[in-house]
Amino acid sequence: MINMSDSKKLIYAGKAKDVYKTAKKDEVLVIFRDDITAGDGDKKDNLKGKGECNSLISSKLFEVLEENGVKTQYINLIETGSMLSKKLDMIPLEVIARNIATGSLLKRFPFEENQKLDPPIIQMDYKNDEFHDPMLNDEITIALGLATQEELDEIRKITLKINEVLSNFLKEKEILLVDFKLEFGKDSEGNIVLGDEVSPDTCRYWDIHTLETLDKDSFRQGQDNVMDIYKQVCNMIVDEKDLERWDSND
Ligand code: 5GP
Repeated sequence: MINMSDSKKLIYAGKAKDVYKTAKKDEVLVIFRDDITAGDGDKKDNLKGKGECNSLISSKLFEVLEENGVKTQYINLIETGSMLSKKLDMIPLEVIARNIATGSLLKRFPFEENQKLDPPIIQMDYKNDEFHDPMLNDEITIALGLATQEELDEIRKITLKINEVLSNFLKEKEILLVDFKLEFGKDSEGNIVLGDEVSPDTCRYWDIHTLETLDKDSFRQGQDNVMDIYKQVCNMIVDEKDLERWDSND
């Protein structure tokens, strides 16, 4: 267990996670909270156990990505809810990949509902609450100084790889990866590294057979079984063996 007593300093508080300093300057501790929000934070709740579920799912998916050559912030799940991570200088982009047309895409463009998107669509939004996360193009992103063309090209390449790896992994778990949002940062050597989380808060997961929602859309739609859904998807993605392995880290 990491000793945070000397160094428990909050660096950043997000809508559902807190990031703390550790004794090592290039490592941080990410704490997954039970808060859940939607619609720019207009809809809020606190669901007991949600942070734990998301920390387990994100850890597992980060591990799968690392095994497939994708650099992530993940170092270790030191206890349920607390992920030791590399410190990244975050790039304020929300990188969204879509395999199926749904959600906000249908409100903005004349796609058919549930239309298959092959090749997948990659969309980049500016992570900025004041401007309500507007959709970007490369010219605007570069002019704002958010990233260079080379970095954008690399982010697209990594995102397509992540889509392929996660779609295949989740298919084995009988989950359809509909779309998801990623956030990237730079490590101390300037590498582009996947940060944030990959969880039902940031992805659309559908039951591969029934197309039932297994993610935060259940909360957005006002369903009363949101936590049951998060627990179900956690059980589908995380094995007993993973839990035993993480438990032995203590
Ligand atoms: P949409 O643009 O259709 O609302 O979302 C597309 C995908 O990106 C969904 O999987 C959604 O969960 C994710 N996403 C887009 N924007 C955000 C955001 O601001 N926060 C979170 N947690 N996920 C987002």
